Amino acid sequence: MPHPPSPDTVVVSGIQPSGVLHIGNYFGAIRQHIDLHARHRSYYFIVNYHAMTTVHDATALRQYSLDVALDYLALGFDPSASSLFVQSDVPEVTELAWIFETLTPVSQLEKAVAYKDKVAKGLSANAGLFNYPLLQAADILIYGASLVPVGADQKQHIEITRDVAARFNQTFCPDDPVFPIPEPMILDEVAIVPGLDGRKMSKSYNNTIGIFDEGKALKKKVMSIVTDSAPLEAPKDPDADNVFSLIKLFATDEERAEIASAYRAGGYGYGHAKKELLRMISNTFAEHREKRRELERRPDYVMDVLRDGASRAREAADTYMRRVREVTGLIRTH
Ligand code: ADP
Repeated sequence: MPHPPSPDTVVVSGIQPSGVLHIGNYFGAIRQHIDLHARHRSYYFIVNYHAMTTVHDATALRQYSLDVALDYLALGFDPSASSLFVQSDVPEVTELAWIFETLTPVSQLEKAVAYKDKVAKGLSANAGLFNYPLLQAADILIYGASLVPVGADQKQHIEITRDVAARFNQTFCPDDPVFPIPEPMILDEVAIVPGLDGRKMSKSYNNTIGIFDEGKALKKKVMSIVTDSAPLEAPKDPDADNVFSLIKLFATDEERAEIASAYRAGGYGYGHAKKELLRMISNTFAEHREKRRELERRPDYVMDVLRDGASRAREAADTYMRRVREVTGLIRTH
């Protein structure tokens, strides 16, 4: 961690509303978000503008965005501790992204990972994807964030944000910089959560277990996790098995040790392990599923949370945008 977080630290983080959140997202990001949001002034926004680089269906975008809000609230996000809102409720981020675009060399964006990967796969990228890191920079800088919790793979985007902030300050206001230079807060390295087929769990591989999956649908998924074909009585290596990799995430230390030794001893089949995993997933999220059902019955409350979060965010954004317009010479007549 670059420096110890203090109560003045402003933390921001964006959440993609581009599909159903899964347990890979939970262990890789959401759990840390929930933990952080209560400790620091934070802005958590549902990045619907970003999602538009791939989602072009109004009903889906609206639904995914509301689902993320419901999911976070059900998983313990306390809206009185930090702000939760949709990105497009602060449309000034797109204005700021535009200003950053005018300052950024194309060559820097060509090196950005998300764009480069897409092009390398032979897919055509839209200009939104190309400019994505600058919208991300605007999302961070418009709230004066000092810390951005990210996985190690996201470090490059924060580097771009730091460059943009420095370039803006240098160009327009070297003696009285507008933007603080944010630091990445690299989240504890979390093991990649495997999906049903053993590859990284990801909505793009269609191999996910949703955080709120339950009943028959959950059972069907767990039972379909790919394992080798060792017979029931054979000793097994827990560290080479997908089911055990998932069990490890949910189990207590004792449970983990007990199940690992059952694997090694033989006479413990993958069917047993899957039943155990099913029980663990079901229990871990039982309360959250209940809370989510309750929230579904209160859509007005969820909208109020988002509205209130947005109004706090806009206030912070306004302070920065007023100065940005002033130092860049953008006239505003109202
Ligand atoms: P997806 O791969 O399903 O599209 P995202 O790229 O939207 O997921 O990831 C959102 C967050 O969840 C990121 O912080 C990412 O690091 C984390 N995450 C996603 N999948 C996994 C996984 N299988 N294991 C651990 N963390 C993950």
